[in-house]
Amino acid sequence: MTPSPLHIAVVGGGIGGLAAALAVARSGHRVTVVERAARFGEIGAGLQLAPNASLALEELGVLDAVRRSAVAPPRLVMMDALTGKQVTALDLRGDAYRSRFKHPYLVTHRTDLHGALLAACEEHPSITLLTGRTVTDVAQTPAEVRLHFAETPERLAADAVVAADGLRSRLRQILVNDGAPVCSKYVAYRGALPVTSMTGAMAQHATTESVIVWAGPRMHLVQYPVRRGELYNQVAVFESDHYDPDSDDWGTEAELEERFAGSCDAVRDALPLVARDRRWPLFDRLPITDWVHDRIVLLGDAAHPMLQYLAQGACQALEDAVALGRALRDHGRPEEAFASYAALRTGRAASIQTNARRFGEICHLDGMGAFLRNQLLSDRTPEDFDDIAWVWTSAGDLQPAPTP
Ligand code: FAD
Repeated sequence: MTPSPLHIAVVGGGIGGLAAALAVARSGHRVTVVERAARFGEIGAGLQLAPNASLALEELGVLDAVRRSAVAPPRLVMMDALTGKQVTALDLRGDAYRSRFKHPYLVTHRTDLHGALLAACEEHPSITLLTGRTVTDVAQTPAEVRLHFAETPERLAADAVVAADGLRSRLRQILVNDGAPVCSKYVAYRGALPVTSMTGAMAQHATTESVIVWAGPRMHLVQYPVRRGELYNQVAVFESDHYDPDSDDWGTEAELEERFAGSCDAVRDALPLVARDRRWPLFDRLPITDWVHDRIVLLGDAAHPMLQYLAQGACQALEDAVALGRALRDHGRPEEAFASYAALRTGRAASIQTNARRFGEICHLDGMGAFLRNQLLSDRTPEDFDDIAWVWTSAGDLQPAPTP
């Protein structure tokens, strides 16, 4: 029997919140999304979407819309940022990939993905979208949850709440109270530039469709095209020697130049075109299992903020959304649905959080460590997905991580 429709409030209108709203509404419930910003939006940089994310997008009914502007890169390549030599590569379009994963590996502009989710939410008759609502507090009884806002004394009552309010989630702070996010002392500079604005070697390089990761000691550079190849996305990441938890004056542009100074010509050519207007200190948290607090549940970065080294934060938020929609389709009481969702999701998300840290360490090795990494990885063929398959395996077919 289909459960009777609930009213679910989603806090946060990022990729996770909008995907959750869509999944829950498609399961037959009424949804109100509350977002603190004056407008729904995302930042101007790229995002990798592994096949687990494409499957989730298909389930949410937005894969075709995302594919219209996304690029399907032929290869995922790791290069040595110092020597300029290839370390290893994976073939993302060949028979081995297609028969194992079924869904495409995509790279997209964040605004394009967020825009596709927003358009689908706007079109859905059961979704109400509210901006300019910063949730400050929450109160729940056995029958309902009430959200309090900074901007208005009005309360929003719902049968249950999904907290998709990101890395610095207010609801996680209230419910779990596990302190501040953990700063990795790494910082990212990132952005996507029109290919037509590039000249010389970079103009030529920016026509490459592959995802390229230049791995170096305590730094790396990621490059790939987005928006039908019209924009080229670059993310430069490095560890600062001047990290200070009480200051923003670390991970500066001067440090960026210094850290990348010894890299190969291709990386040095690319560096002037890495966006500098904003720096992004990189945070995660340790995994937790208590995502459910009666009628409130955590989702996306609010539940499992991770370092970006496996490119899975948004992919996992999309998996969360699909799992939550299914749980609310199959269970009448929100507490039961949330428990079923958390049982499916917490272990997998924790494994990816933990392994993202490890992969960052491997990527940033120096000296003998980097030499051994390159030797080991150079033996792999472009069809060998054994190490990554558990991460890229679909939302509906979740597998446990291999034992470390
Ligand atoms: P957010 O995007 O943080 O959204 C939270 C929303 O909640 C925001 O709109 C915010 O305004 C709103 N909000 C916050 N507090 C309140 C409040 N109190 N009341 C109301 N609204 C509130 N992931 C990938 O899958 N692939 C990648 O290639 C990838 N690359 C990355 C590269 C970098 C450098 C970084 C830093 C991250 C990367 N990620 C990647 C991770 C990905 O960006 C995040 O995991 C994802 O965007 C999280 O989405 P979210 O909706 O959970 O949170």
